[in-house]
Amino acid sequence: MKGQKRKNMKLKTAEILCVGTELLIGDIVNTNAAFLSGRLAEMGIAQYHQSVVGDNEERLEEAVQTAIGRCDLLILTGGLGPTYDDMTKRAVARALGLDCIADDNCTRHVQAYCARRGTEFRACDRNQCLLPRGAFSFCNRWGSANGVGLVLPSVQKIVVMLPGPPRETRPMFDTEVRPYLEQFTDGVIVSRNLNLAGIGEPAVEELLSAQMRAAVNPSIAPYCTEGEVRLRVSARADTREAGERMCDRTVKELLATEIGKYVYGVDTGLAQATVTELNRRGWHIATAESCTGGLISAMLTAVPGASRVLEGSFVTYADRTKQCLLGVSPETIARHTAVSEQTAREMAQGVCQRLSCEVGISVTGYAGPDGGDAENPVGTVFVGVCVNGKTDVERHALSGTRDYIRTVAAKRALSLALRAIRSADTSEDAR
Ligand code: ATP
Ligand code: MG
Repeated sequence: MKGQKRKNMKLKTAEILCVGTELLIGDIVNTNAAFLSGRLAEMGIAQYHQSVVGDNEERLEEAVQTAIGRCDLLILTGGLGPTYDDMTKRAVARALGLDCIADDNCTRHVQAYCARRGTEFRACDRNQCLLPRGAFSFCNRWGSANGVGLVLPSVQKIVVMLPGPPRETRPMFDTEVRPYLEQFTDGVIVSRNLNLAGIGEPAVEELLSAQMRAAVNPSIAPYCTEGEVRLRVSARADTREAGERMCDRTVKELLATEIGKYVYGVDTGLAQATVTELNRRGWHIATAESCTGGLISAMLTAVPGASRVLEGSFVTYADRTKQCLLGVSPETIARHTAVSEQTAREMAQGVCQRLSCEVGISVTGYAGPDGGDAENPVGTVFVGVCVNGKTDVERHALSGTRDYIRTVAAKRALSLALRAIRSADTSEDAR
């Protein structure tokens, strides 16, 4: 069934149905839905509904019936495991009036999985070897439960079932399911993200309103995520290569406009861009963090290859620590407080000196909910950067929850560092 091409079947709409009581009670976040939604959008398949159902066979059966009645492609995740409360295949089979039968492929897969782990093939493992009649399996190289595909020729629809753990769902979708589904889609959607710093969404809209309205394919749209603005360029094309060419052309045009000077990376995050710039120059960086408590360091270390550029980090929360680890002067703190331009400046310079780095980043601020004063209320954050002895400090007035303020403060610090590193070249060239 899997190899049989049904080229005239077109998947235009999809629905995602995630199974698991822990999703309903907020124990886990539905990252599978977010991941699959992004992939479906890239494939040009529209989504009008999405749902979550607990581990209850009747409700799941009903949800499958409703979903399959209104979309061309139904993707379920979760509930494919060995235990009795893993009921997705049973419920789908019942909803479609099918029975479940043992599948040789799945049986061999589970037996090999048990053998590799040195565990016994248990009675409950048989659950994972069953498929609704007429279904085929998608190989799971990351776990024991294979995925399931089921074509419903009479109604020209497809049902896909994937395991719940994201470390299995994601690679399985990309390597097994997506290539299979692409034979039933009309072209692809390719996107590029221009990441901007130092400009807000309204200003982006104002600068680009004419282009954005005129752009149909590729389309241009601004998005705002925690403290960052992103411009997404999306092209629909027959092939990935054609879509990439269309996007690249539009990106080039955008970079040549006024907006270009705010773009710090195309499909590249702040930390990645910073690591790349440092690597290119053979420079090293160190961070001195107060209210961000190591977030900048965490963002940098998340980038593969960060070890070549990140020397180390100090989390200096107390005044005393700022003094003894970074050499901030007690007079500075007494006169200007720990949350001040002067303290941020001395922190950035201090960490550069102590760790002998070309670049030092500092953050000090009031993340709230308490703290602050009339001059510098909660949300006030000073970010500093010292590049080869030249120091810049910015004051930011942020608002929001403690987490939000800390995250945005870390991004503002990285963004300042990136600009300072890049402009260090121009000032050196000018000399
Ligand atoms: P297993 O064989 O591990 O039981 P399964 O296919 O039966 O896999 P579930 O039992 O539904 O999947 O979920 C297993 C784990 O996968 C959950 O505890 C959760 O950590 C994660 N998970 C399940 N569904 C989602 C989801 N929609 N988004 C993110 N994580 C999920
Ligand atoms: Mg399970």
